[in-house]
Amino acid sequence: MSLYCLACRQSYSLSEPLWRCPCGGLLDLSEVAFDRTRLEPGQASLWRYRPALPLAEGAVPVSLGEGNTPLVQDTLAGVPVYLKLEFLFPSGSYKDRGATTLVTQARALGRSHVVEDSSGNAGAALAAYCSRAGIACDIYVPASVPAAKLAQIASYGARIVRVPGSREEAARAALEAVGGPHGTLPPDRPYYASHSWNPFFLAGTKTFAYEVWEQLGGRAPEAVLLPTGNGTLLLGAARGFRELYVGGVITHLPRLIAVQSAACAPVFEAFQADEPKTANRKPPTANPPLASGIAIAAPVRLAQMVETLRREGGAVVTVADADIRAAQAALARRGLYVEPTGAAAAAAVQPARERGLIEPGQTVVIPLTGSGLKSG
Ligand SMILES: *Cc1c(COP(=O)(O)O)cnc(C)c1O
Ligand SMILES: [Zn+2]
Repeated sequence: MSLYCLACRQSYSLSEPLWRCPCGGLLDLSEVAFDRTRLEPGQASLWRYRPALPLAEGAVPVSLGEGNTPLVQDTLAGVPVYLKLEFLFPSGSYKDRGATTLVTQARALGRSHVVEDSSGNAGAALAAYCSRAGIACDIYVPASVPAAKLAQIASYGARIVRVPGSREEAARAALEAVGGPHGTLPPDRPYYASHSWNPFFLAGTKTFAYEVWEQLGGRAPEAVLLPTGNGTLLLGAARGFRELYVGGVITHLPRLIAVQSAACAPVFEAFQADEPKTANRKPPTANPPLASGIAIAAPVRLAQMVETLRREGGAVVTVADADIRAAQAALARRGLYVEPTGAAAAAAVQPARERGLIEPGQTVVIPLTGSGLKSG
């Protein structure tokens, strides 16, 4: 298992303190063939997949018992679906999947201070795991973050740095704090625990696929609808299902359907276009956008997302704010209280069916990614 650069293909040891290749490229973790004989069934958390998680040698999990979220059968827009209750994580969103592995990695590297930029949930997740690990944590947030999320981040003891302007400006300010855009991290600088850049976040999000496989009784679904902004869940799920496939434990790969807000849809635009680089990087139209967790105008892994979707036979669907609101209300009337971003994938069931992306009789999985309790 190693780190490698998506641009120059150079590989690095998992113990290198890198968040980006010195050539400027994005780092990713090498693929692991899933080995079902190497689970740790004694662990109730996602750490039962420990042997499949590429982390620095000797890393000791920073854990809050995360993972194994319920998979519940329901019917949305007349379509039978499995809802995975990803809002039932310790910090209230699926971002704990990546935060537990990323903070574990930071501690294994001996880091005592991390920096992250976030529109809310990633910051809350990082802050929670950092406090668990005794690591100092600064979260850079844009002006539009809901008050409930700020209160949560502050309660964990993280330092909040408010950045006037957009989500992208918060990311730029965090980059300055870690010493600029080059990817090495001198020991006197904080560790860049960016969920979009740092590949150790993706080490954790792939466990979403592993859990779905186990909860469906050892098979893959036909389709998964995934709310997509920076793509950490999309890329993690794609990797996880591929590893199950390469490991010979599933016989087909599910169709991955990325769901974006129509108010901010760079992945949709790049996927439609011939060349990912021609993506229109206009900022979100609604200010602040309803589904703020997926309103990422210029996601750093845009090309990687488009390539992954093309390679895996995926698709992208956009949903309007009004449909997200309606889906959020419909879920609440079924006992499921989620934030707007967490309802976006549910809102995509109808358009996905109309486009023939999901068909009658198929097993469809939808993560409900964030709790309604903190949408403010
Ligand atoms: C972050 C987030 C997403 C999207 O994740 P990306 O990694 O940005 O694609 C979806 N739902 C919720 C609730 C989130 O917080
Ligand atoms: Zn490189």
